[in-house]
Amino acid sequence: MARHDVLNIEVDRASHVEIEFEDGVIARFELAPLRLACPCAECNSRRQKDEPVSKSVMEGGPISITNAELAGNWGLSLDWSDGHSTGIYAWTVLRQWMDEREEVNNDPAKRKVFGKPVDGPIRRSD
Ligand SMILES: [Zn+2]
Repeated sequence: MARHDVLNIEVDRASHVEIEFEDGVIARFELAPLRLACPCAECNSRRQKDEPVSKSVMEGGPISITNAELAGNWGLSLDWSDGHSTGIYAWTVLRQWMDEREEVNNDPAKRKVFGKPVDGPIRRSD
């Protein structure tokens, strides 16, 4: 996995997280899909067991970020309004989601948006 440095991070607690990488790619992540893609052990386990990662979000309920902190220099730790706070989103993982999405979706207007504002569960392999 190629490593990319992060130049800038914007956290809009009610709307999105946007990350600017050193090679010019700006990755924008809407909150609902970002929450549902949470990479922590608990959420991974839920996905493996086909349990909802966040039932309220999957049903279209509101989600916002209550706190955001840098995790060292390698990622972003997010606390969510549904009470979940164990997810740390590594830059490499966020970049990988972005790159995978670009391969699938060649529409330049859409390829930098990770999911729609609310679009239900995400499958990493989509
Ligand atoms: Zn999680």
